[in-house]
Amino acid sequence: MEEKRVFSRLIRENTVKIVATLGPASDSKKMLKELLSVGVDVFRLNFSHGTHDEKRALVERIREVDEYVGILADIQGPKIRVGNFKDDKAYNLNVGQEVKVYEKDIIGDQDQFSIPLVGFLNTVSRGDAFFVNDGIIKIQVKKKERDHIIGEVMAGGIISNRKGVNIPKGTLSQRVPTEKDIKDLELIAELNPEYVAISFVSSGADVLHVKRILENYGNSDIKLISKIERPIALDNFDDILEVSDGIMVARGDLGVEISPDQVPVHQKEMIKKCNREGKPVIVATQMLESMINAPIPTRAEANDVFNAVIDGTDAIMLSAETAVGNYPINAVQYMNKIAYTATQNMPKRKPDEYDSDRLIHTQVLGHAIHSLTTEMEDLNFRGKILVLTRGGFGARMIAKYRPPLPIIAITPHKRTSREMNLLWAVQPIHIEDIDFFHLDAEAIIEQSVKYAVDLGVIDENEHVVILLVSRKWKKRGNLVGFYYVGEILKSDAEETS
Ligand code: PGA
Ligand code: MN
Repeated sequence: MEEKRVFSRLIRENTVKIVATLGPASDSKKMLKELLSVGVDVFRLNFSHGTHDEKRALVERIREVDEYVGILADIQGPKIRVGNFKDDKAYNLNVGQEVKVYEKDIIGDQDQFSIPLVGFLNTVSRGDAFFVNDGIIKIQVKKKERDHIIGEVMAGGIISNRKGVNIPKGTLSQRVPTEKDIKDLELIAELNPEYVAISFVSSGADVLHVKRILENYGNSDIKLISKIERPIALDNFDDILEVSDGIMVARGDLGVEISPDQVPVHQKEMIKKCNREGKPVIVATQMLESMINAPIPTRAEANDVFNAVIDGTDAIMLSAETAVGNYPINAVQYMNKIAYTATQNMPKRKPDEYDSDRLIHTQVLGHAIHSLTTEMEDLNFRGKILVLTRGGFGARMIAKYRPPLPIIAITPHKRTSREMNLLWAVQPIHIEDIDFFHLDAEAIIEQSVKYAVDLGVIDENEHVVILLVSRKWKKRGNLVGFYYVGEILKSDAEETS
């Protein structure tokens, strides 16, 4: 076997995938390597920060370090921000004080600042509240003047240059994507990451808009992850999911736009819907927040990561913890460890609850493979699931039922292999020279099993459940097989001797 034609990042036993945001604390070559060695599956590039040259260099660096890791480019969207403050200082707004907030860009201080966004004054009414700095500062509108509002500080805190603003009631819908996003998408189309995450999506139309822009820039491969972080996205969730390739439960902004106690309700519901459609879902933000400054997580954070896994998420994400934190490696290690324990304690899935209403041929087989492997487990058969897939669809239809055995997905496409880093329990393997449509089924099975054995992901004494596409009836024809690895290896020995 020509080993150079087989490519794989061997993932640890963990089935839940880890997305790590890169930033000054983690984007050196050395740190990238370390992060990979402790179990990162996908790197997130945050386009809210940094220049295009920096992003281009970073993507190059990532590919140099590991050709098979996944990359997710996150575009900023219409994030509203306050203007700048006198001498670039931070000010403490006190509960009960009044502040003037201008739409025109002024230099702020203790008593006034600006939200320099056309339409700001129109979008808020007397009695409405808005938030600054991740929801920490709450300001209620007392009075509207010609060019500013007078607000009362209901919850105080530190305000400084360019802090984020949330206006939950506001109808201020700056278009998604924004002008900045469109410029970033041009670069993203060129850099060709596996995924782009779209911030502040409000409808399916927003997602399609981004898709069209990428297509206009000549890239129709990049998969779209919609970030759910506004109430309107919750209202339109089904439409958004239909046209997206995956979802991010963006709890940072969502938890300001809606009451924090409502976030877990929606997290569970969104995860379930994504699972049902077999589309990857990422739970994001504040998962191990205290680890920005401490080498161990709080008990509550450990519980949060654990419970996101039990909810059924495909992936969990680190933001500031790895981008700017003091303990990025510890954060990934803890995340991995907690996720592993959670995986060991996952309640068995009732497959009927995860059938999509859509008439998907491959889904029937995914469901059946869940039943088959559950039976294997009950009867003490050790083994793996092996799926041969071009675009990853077969792997998704199996993974969504969370079968009890690991899923090895062999693909002839490098891109598919990288994309599958986001899928629950899927170990991607890229085999360049496997030709699904020119070998007969048994030859493909034999070849793939041998590759997998050589890589050490399947062993001789195991059974494999295999799903492959029919060579003759490609559209809806599939074969499912159940084999003993030792016998496949032996048959080869007999033939060649
Ligand atoms: P952000 O998105 O980190 O880009 O704000 C995630 C979130 O809002 O949770
Ligand atoms: Mn956000």
